Amino acid sequence: MTALETPWLAALIDQLRRARAAGRFPTGLLIHDERGAGGNALAQFAAQLALCRESDAPCGHCRDCRQFLAQQHPDYVEVKPIEDSKYIRVEQVRDLGQELALTSHNGGATVVLLSPADSMNPNAANALLKTLEEPRAGVSLILLCSEPSRLPATILSRCQKLKVLAPARSVSIAWLERHGGAGPWGVALDVLGNAPFEALTVNAAELARLKSETDRALSEALAGRLDIPGTAERWAAKSAPFELRLACLETWITSRIDEASAKPRQSSEMRSRAHLSESSSDMNIALLLRVLDAAYELRRLRLTSLNRSLALEQMLWQLPRAGRGAKAA
Ligand SMILES: [Zn+2]
Repeated sequence: MTALETPWLAALIDQLRRARAAGRFPTGLLIHDERGAGGNALAQFAAQLALCRESDAPCGHCRDCRQFLAQQHPDYVEVKPIEDSKYIRVEQVRDLGQELALTSHNGGATVVLLSPADSMNPNAANALLKTLEEPRAGVSLILLCSEPSRLPATILSRCQKLKVLAPARSVSIAWLERHGGAGPWGVALDVLGNAPFEALTVNAAELARLKSETDRALSEALAGRLDIPGTAERWAAKSAPFELRLACLETWITSRIDEASAKPRQSSEMRSRAHLSESSSDMNIALLLRVLDAAYELRRLRLTSLNRSLALEQMLWQLPRAGRGAKAA
């Protein structure tokens, strides 16, 4: 999906076009995006805008545009963490510095996209600073990241910043219906958060089925009726959509916490650290928070399938306790 088909990026696109038309396209451009809001699409637009030399850039048909769109532009470089690494390493940035010291292949601009830029370790960030301080003419560095505060101030101060915010939920849904079909997109946004670009990558109907199946199983667990080992094994199977399942699980738990918190007696009982009484909730909030923590931990650890099953099982065993804990109080 391109930035030009995304209405909430229009103002940022205008800003970039004006800067280029005035010959002020930044050497360092930091795109700060909310998850799934379209930062990468904007970064791709900015790169093509910088590479195209036509007056109506990005024109879409010149040699620079065609090479860029075919992902074969010799003066466009993407730097990302290599394979399983979480970090952009200092060697990658040093290699980049050597490459940027040479003149461009096509005789025009050279554009580098660092993504996610906040995955540079401190050494890599220091190496990048040199390039930002003394760039060759025509070089543009685009830093795409969701947590710019993790970058050194020396880098931030040398970049022009653009912030990409997700639109209102209704705008996300209209955009998803237009570009991704019927949905149901409301459910997808419930599970994934208001992250339209991320939602566009999933099959909304399948995700809705996964969510209702997860909801049903968790309600059963709460009632002490779920086959927990069997369910954990099934959910952890290699062919199962593990990350989406975790997202459904987190959504269910946070809704239960929201529901319990909305009840009037809740706040005083939380302050007194007492368990919730059965009349105000079927569940114990402290336990629900622990289950939620366990889900976040599972996501963070990316366990092997064997460990996944065990960890899921341990997490699910806590749910009937959450139900019983409330009744015992
Ligand atoms: Zn062009």
